[in-house]
Amino acid sequence: AKRGGRGIVRLFDEGMDEGIRFRRRVESGLSQAIDKGELSLVFQPIVSGAAIEVVGFEALVRWNTREYGPISPATFIPIAEESNLIHELGDWVLTQALDVMKQWPGQYVSVNFSPRQFRRHNFVGHIMESVLRAGIEPARLQIEITETAIFDDAERAADTLYKLRQMGFRIALDDFGTGYSSLYNIRKFALDCLKIDKSFIDGMGRERESAAIVHSIIHLGRALGLGIIAEGVETEVQVQALRLAGASHLQGYFFSRPVTADLAAEMAATRFIG
Ligand code: C2E
Ligand code: CA
Ligand code: CA
Ligand code: CA
Repeated sequence: AKRGGRGIVRLFDEGMDEGIRFRRRVESGLSQAIDKGELSLVFQPIVSGAAIEVVGFEALVRWNTREYGPISPATFIPIAEESNLIHELGDWVLTQALDVMKQWPGQYVSVNFSPRQFRRHNFVGHIMESVLRAGIEPARLQIEITETAIFDDAERAADTLYKLRQMGFRIALDDFGTGYSSLYNIRKFALDCLKIDKSFIDGMGRERESAAIVHSIIHLGRALGLGIIAEGVETEVQVQALRLAGASHLQGYFFSRPVTADLAAEMAATRFIG
């Protein structure tokens, strides 16, 4: 039994070593990814709930490594977030997104900013400078942040959001419902819309609880004058239910997976229904 016990301990240790080694490989790989041209952006359409036409796109980063093939952002973003790499990566994403936007007509692009980017010194000035340099209207850039980014230091976050909004940027609160936000606090933040997390959309047809949560978020958003983007919409049943419930915008595989900038440009004027 003792030997078995040690075996388990050893296995566990090796597992941890493997985890740390993987992290280090990701960190060092990521620090070279930009120079090696391994990063790219894809764009997923956001459609209006009313007319079902494409009004914007969410920019999502992709990392295709020479050594291991594609690595998911769900894996490498948290690792970048824990090191300073997130700043370089984030700057690349923003510059690239703005560059692509120059070739598009009126659609907005929604860019994800991690909590650490958002809390960076002079975040507002940094964004404004990038947008001015690119010659893009601030109203065409939607800044996506999560609840984690704003609820740690709510006062400072409220100030940052207020400034961004004053300058004309749109603000979306991402993954809404999964974090720690108090509904009461939501009204203190200058926001344009709430994005309902996919996990609630998934559950809509299956559990009454999820459907109730989705309806509550839509109701709350409307009462506060905010837009509602339902994300991870995969089926026609979800589309109908969400339109009926009053979601102002929909996003998900039902309409399109994230695609290259060229394909997105072709989609820019697409109507999906009617
Ligand atoms: P997110 O911001 O919640 O983005 C939505 C994720 O759901 C994306 O995964 C998207 O491809 C996926 N998705 C959209 N519609 C559907 C659907 O109908 N079904 C399913 N199964 N999935 C759908 P992705 O691209 O793998 O990104 C994962 C996460 O990585 C993002 O979650 C975001 O937190 C982060 N991320 C991606 N790109 C960036 C970036 O440029 N900067 C930062 N800071 N984070 C990013
Ligand atoms: Ca997002
Ligand atoms: Ca999300
Ligand atoms: Ca998410």
